[in-house]
Amino acid sequence: MKPAPFVYHAPADVQETLELLAELGPEAKVLAGGQSLVPVLNMRLASPAHLVDINRVAGLDEVTVEPGGVRVGALVRHAHLLSHSAARTAQPLLRQALRWVAHPVIRNRGTTVGSIVHADPAGEMPAVLALTDGHVLLRSVHGDREVPASSFFVGPMECCATADELAVEAVFGRFPPGTRTGFSEIARRHGDYALAGVALALRLGDDGSVTSARASFVSLTEVPDVLDLTDAVAGATAADLPGLAGRVEEVVGGHVDPVDDIHASADYRRHLAVVQTHRLLDRLTAGEDADGTVRLPDAPTDQEVTA
Ligand SMILES: Cc1cc2nc3c(=O)[nH]c(=O)nc-3n(C[C@H](O)[C@H](O)[C@H](O)COP(=O)(O)OP(=O)(O)OC[C@H]3O[C@@H](n4cnc5c(N)ncnc54)[C@H](O)[C@@H]3O)c2cc1C
Repeated sequence: MKPAPFVYHAPADVQETLELLAELGPEAKVLAGGQSLVPVLNMRLASPAHLVDINRVAGLDEVTVEPGGVRVGALVRHAHLLSHSAARTAQPLLRQALRWVAHPVIRNRGTTVGSIVHADPAGEMPAVLALTDGHVLLRSVHGDREVPASSFFVGPMECCATADELAVEAVFGRFPPGTRTGFSEIARRHGDYALAGVALALRLGDDGSVTSARASFVSLTEVPDVLDLTDAVAGATAADLPGLAGRVEEVVGGHVDPVDDIHASADYRRHLAVVQTHRLLDRLTAGEDADGTVRLPDAPTDQEVTA
C-alpha cells in the first residue's frame, strides 16, 4: 500500500523544526530514519497531514561520551553507535544490545533516538535506556525538558513527548567501574524482533558474590521498567546460582507480563525471560570477556553484525 497524501517539510535547523512542530501540532509527525514510521504510513495505521523530515538538520548526528553518560543525538544511526568504540567502552550494553537490533540495512538508516521515541516494547534500546537510568532531552519552542527513562515510556508504543516536541538526544547512563553487563535475546530468526530479551547489570563484591543485580526486558513488559533482583541473589557466588533457579523464576516470572501473539504464547515468553535471566546471572557471576561483554553462545558474531 501507499501512504495517505501528506505535506513534506525539510527544515534545515532545530529552530525551524521546532517552529514547524509548534505550528502544525498533532497533524505532523517527525521523520527520522523512517524504519518504523514509513511502514506505519504505508499500512495506513497513521495518516499525518504533514511529515517533518529532520534528516537535513545540522548538529543532531553526534555521539558524545561524558563522565555522566553517552549522549546520542537524534540523527545518530544504530550502525554509527554500534561502531563507536568510545561509546561502547563507556557503556558496553550499547553494543551488546545494538547487535540484536534488526539487520545492517535497517541499522544504517534507523536512529537510536527514533527507536526510543517509538517506544515499542519489542525494541532493545528502550530497555537499555531504562537499565542505564538514562534520559531523553525533549525540546520545543517553549524550552527543554529532561525526562528520565522511568517516566518517559507511558505505554506500549507511547512515550510522553508531545506533538510539538523534538527528541534532541538520548543520554545513556554509565555504570560504576566493575559493573558487569550482558544482553540476551531469543528471536525466531536473527534480526527479527525478540520473542523475549533481557539486559542485565551486575556487581560483585571482593569475594566474588553478588552485591547488586538489575534487569530490564524486551517484549516482556508494556514499558521497559527495571527489575531489581538484588534481594533474590545477593551474596550468591557462581557456585550458588544453579540452586537459585526457583527464586529467579519466582521474581522474574512475577515481574514480566507478556502477551500471547501469533509468534509465541505468553507462557513461553515468560519461560524465556526466566531462563535467559538465570543464564545471564550465571555467566556474569562466573566471568566476562576482556571487552567487558559476556559472549553468549547464540550471540551474533562480529561478522554477522556487519554483514
Ligand atoms: C524489518 C525491520 C526490522 C526491525 N527490527 C527491529 C528490532 O529487532 N529491534 C528494534 O528495536 N527495532 C527494529 N526495527 C525498527 C528500527 O530500529 C527503527 O529504526 C526504529 O525503531 C525507529 O527509528 P527511526 O529513526 O527509523 O524512526 P522513524 O521511523 O523515523 O520514527 C519512528 C517514530 O518516532 C518518531 N520520532 C523519530 N525521531 C524523533 C525525534 N527525534 N523526535 C520526536 N519524534 C521522533 C516519529 O515521528 C515516529 O513516530 C526494525 C525495523 C524494520 C523495518
